[in-house]
Amino acid sequence: MFTDTHAHFEKQYYDNYEIVIDNAKKNFVNRIISSGCSKLANIESIKVSNKYNNVYSTIGYHPDQADIITDMDIKELEELLDNEKIVGIGEIGLDYHYEGYDKDKQKKLFIEQLKLAQKHALPVVIHSRDAVQDTIDILKKYPNIKGVIHSFSGSFEVANIYIGMGFKLGINGVVTFKNSKLKETLLKIDPSNIVLETDSPYLTPHPFRGEKNESKNIKIIAEFLSDLYGIPLEKLSEITNKSVAEIFDI
Ligand SMILES: [Zn+2]
Repeated sequence: MFTDTHAHFEKQYYDNYEIVIDNAKKNFVNRIISSGCSKLANIESIKVSNKYNNVYSTIGYHPDQADIITDMDIKELEELLDNEKIVGIGEIGLDYHYEGYDKDKQKKLFIEQLKLAQKHALPVVIHSRDAVQDTIDILKKYPNIKGVIHSFSGSFEVANIYIGMGFKLGINGVVTFKNSKLKETLLKIDPSNIVLETDSPYLTPHPFRGEKNESKNIKIIAEFLSDLYGIPLEKLSEITNKSVAEIFDI
């Protein structure tokens, strides 16, 4: 049995959640953590996790929301946290990939949500793109917060810094891409430091790259990693679920 620690349940991506959840179960993906990233997506994520037993939620404001989120919205987010299916805050972080971003606004939004995580003793799911140093510098100020570095694809050195800070690395379909160097990094890292995720509907693993991703494809990622590490699937399931329990308490 596997856990998809990062999927996006939003109406714009899926007509029928039931089919997605059922497909996942048929492929031994028994638990899914739905990740909110905007006001609308957070509400939808909570709705889905309230409806389905095996779906949990993290909610938060993605850095691409930094220009529009107000103090009221942060307050609103805090009020939503009081729900037993919410297991963390995310995805939150920094994204300097696309032009036009405002570093200061992103940092402020990130820090405000880290403060919420600290106050409510919740783990965080970190989105960090082209912003490694700032992400590490900010996270270092909150040493009690643990979580997942979503869609990790950095170097061995960066992996070690995050692991040393109590974070797990979220590994998805990117590792199966032919041009990805991530497998070399992962081979130097003990599998106890990773959790599995799809980031569906994005980042569909090889050989289905380009198609819409679903939680069921955790199986493809798990098989790839089981080969890479030379450990049976059952062992990988056990190791990664232990990490999920450590971070999200499920
Ligand atoms: Zn995501």
